[in-house]
Amino acid sequence: MALVGIAKLASQSELLEAKRQVQYFEIPSRSILNRTKPGMPFHWTINPYRGCEFGCKYCYARYTHEFMGMEDGREFESRIYAKAATPEILRRELRGTPRDDAIAIGTATDPYQPAERRFGRTRALLEVFAQEKGRRVSITTKSDLVARDLDLLREVARRNVLSINVTITTLNRRLARMMEPRAPRPDLRLAAVRALSEAGLCVGVYPNPILPMITDSERSLDALAAAACHAGAQYFGGGPLFLMPSAKKIFFPFLDERFPKLAESYSKLYAGGAYLGGAYKAQLRERVARMRERHGLGSAPVEYRPELWEGEEQGTLFPLH
Ligand code: SF4
Repeated sequence: MALVGIAKLASQSELLEAKRQVQYFEIPSRSILNRTKPGMPFHWTINPYRGCEFGCKYCYARYTHEFMGMEDGREFESRIYAKAATPEILRRELRGTPRDDAIAIGTATDPYQPAERRFGRTRALLEVFAQEKGRRVSITTKSDLVARDLDLLREVARRNVLSINVTITTLNRRLARMMEPRAPRPDLRLAAVRALSEAGLCVGVYPNPILPMITDSERSLDALAAAACHAGAQYFGGGPLFLMPSAKKIFFPFLDERFPKLAESYSKLYAGGAYLGGAYKAQLRERVARMRERHGLGSAPVEYRPELWEGEEQGTLFPLH
């Protein structure tokens, strides 16, 4: 079959480096800001990498890579593409983007996965935001590498409204290693939450995705919310596992191997589609809300006014003409 579009670009990408079974490539990009569909909590997304080395067994993002010809879910975690020339592209695209639009970094792949240590594509984009003013930016990651950029993140937050979402699914190291084989340990992620919070940044913890019968117990979520609060997180939230067919191809064999007694229950739960709704979702929402209340956590980032806005006329930030 002839390759087209992104799949063609990916097949022609230059090999940057090969490590163990992981290969890193550079992929040309025409655009870095991707418009979301209506109804999303943000208007634009940015993903500096394609593919994600963390290799979480439940990863929903595999389906977003099928169009690159990565139909075997394992390529998603072993062929990592760093997008090229992104700061220049971002600067250009921001010129035509309303300041008040919410921009989310790290929605399809982790912006602080191991490739970031080598190629610094996320950091390069943050440097652009540090020169901006009045933007609304969020970052989602399950890596403690985010704390490397503490000073830069503070610069971004002085001029823009910034929130950082750290994903921690469980405090159980063994379980985390099983489900998220190459992601940093939960205690390291908590240490990053603490460092961000102590630096005065707006940070929250999301136990996403919450896995039925594996991480959804009151005890597990309570321990997570308590640890998040103790580390200085300001908000906490989470929703149930979303299982597209491409994620099932990896997740179901994982269940068969590690949780064979749950395999049948999962097949029934997800027989109707990728989303879990109804009573389960409602009960989970209630449980997460109870945890928030118990530990004094908010449900969303706190709105704040960046330091550099103080004393400024709003009209200078959001000109009407
Ligand atoms: S960190 Fe996120 S994008 Fe990366 S493998 Fe895990 S779930 Fe997927």
